Amino acid sequence: MTIGDSILAQLKEEISEIEYKRYIKQLSFCTEDSKTDYALFLAPNPLIASWVRTKYSEKISHLFEVKTSIKPQVVIELKNKRSAKVQTKETPANSPQHSAHQSLLNPAYTFDNYVVGTSNQFAYSAAQSVCEKPGGAYNPLYLYGGVGLGKTHLMQAVGNRFQAQGKSVIYSSVEQFVNDFTRHLRNQTMDRFKDKYRNCDILMIDDVQFLSGKELTQEEFFHTFEVLRSANKQIILTSDKHPKKIAGIEERLLSRFQWGLVTDIQPPELETKIAIINKKCEINRVNITKDVIEYIATIIDNNAREIEGILSKLHAYAKLMNQEITLEFTKNVLKEHIKEQRENITIDDIVKFVSKELNVKPSEIRSKNRSKNIVYSRRVSIYLARSLTQNTMPQLAQYFGMKDHTTISHTMKKISELLKSDENFKLKIDELNNKISAGQTT
Ligand code: ADP
Ligand code: MG
Repeated sequence: MTIGDSILAQLKEEISEIEYKRYIKQLSFCTEDSKTDYALFLAPNPLIASWVRTKYSEKISHLFEVKTSIKPQVVIELKNKRSAKVQTKETPANSPQHSAHQSLLNPAYTFDNYVVGTSNQFAYSAAQSVCEKPGGAYNPLYLYGGVGLGKTHLMQAVGNRFQAQGKSVIYSSVEQFVNDFTRHLRNQTMDRFKDKYRNCDILMIDDVQFLSGKELTQEEFFHTFEVLRSANKQIILTSDKHPKKIAGIEERLLSRFQWGLVTDIQPPELETKIAIINKKCEINRVNITKDVIEYIATIIDNNAREIEGILSKLHAYAKLMNQEITLEFTKNVLKEHIKEQRENITIDDIVKFVSKELNVKPSEIRSKNRSKNIVYSRRVSIYLARSLTQNTMPQLAQYFGMKDHTTISHTMKKISELLKSDENFKLKIDELNNKISAGQTT
């Protein structure tokens, strides 16, 4: 068994069997072209490749690191593209390991592939300005917003643009930065670390909120930042929060994060979601009709990351069943998806989800607090937990800290009445139900 195969076998233990069969099992490890710091896997089609890239490449890289203590760059290529390359006898000198920093960018993350709507317009223009005037007024450019809203995509669009101009670009997650730092520190090769991070034209660090609590790394990052900024080199940062809301990062860094331009990306409106799905279909060469696209747009939340998974699933099923992707078919396939999600869903997932949606704390939902908002959230949680999980009433009573199952059955009765009498309540429950069904608790 090659190291690549054993890594995939290990990944199998960590994901659902369906996901494993659908995506990971389809990969083959390319022993000849992989090196200790570069792992190449081949995928049979663009959808699987892109899905594995976004969802699993970081995980795979991590598993390698655990096994070999070297975190390789994980590259997923298309099988037929690879064989074509072999035929044209591409020399290893052109292989990505010689430009390790550069090829870490996802080539599909370009400005052309980015859909602009009111939710991200400002961030988009800022990113374009950075391309025109790197190291100018927008240094650093700090993009923040929720998961899957396109921060990484936009940041890498700038990176791809710079790279095309032959500039040296470094893109790194905080995890990667920390790993690099600790490895070089341990091996007493800090000069190489500095050489890498301080001699680039543009440094992009993704999800800086993860620097929280990592004091040594913050210190190092502070110096990197100072060197680059005083040399007018461009820095781009992303985060899930405004710098003012991040805890556990030293003040001098947080204030520097705000020296350039801080801008957020808002959740996309329905039209933008539709446009993004259209774009993804175009890129992945999936042909689906307008009604299907609209349906998908309504069942996904704000996280555009789900789109590729859904398209990949539809594509795979359609091929398997030799069927057109009609609306009916889509609903059916996604219903399967819903069932899978539901089988795995726990009360914890539901409570976490409800607390996020209704803006209360999970601990409040489980408490005895009687304030209106919390009672409401508790009822909704109990109802959803009862209808979507296999837990019995005594189990629910125990979880929600109630005396016994009669309290739960009383709550269930109360909710049934509300569902009949209160239209808004019913709508809310339906909405939450749909979202959970579409897998948004994960
Ligand atoms: P984030 O970094 O904010 O969590 P990503 O940049 O990883 O989000 O985006 C998640 C997925 O959604 C990617 O596949 C990305 O291409 C896609 N996406 C998000 N926003 C857009 C957009 N405005 N246009 C096109 N694709 C988008
Ligand atoms: Mg991101």
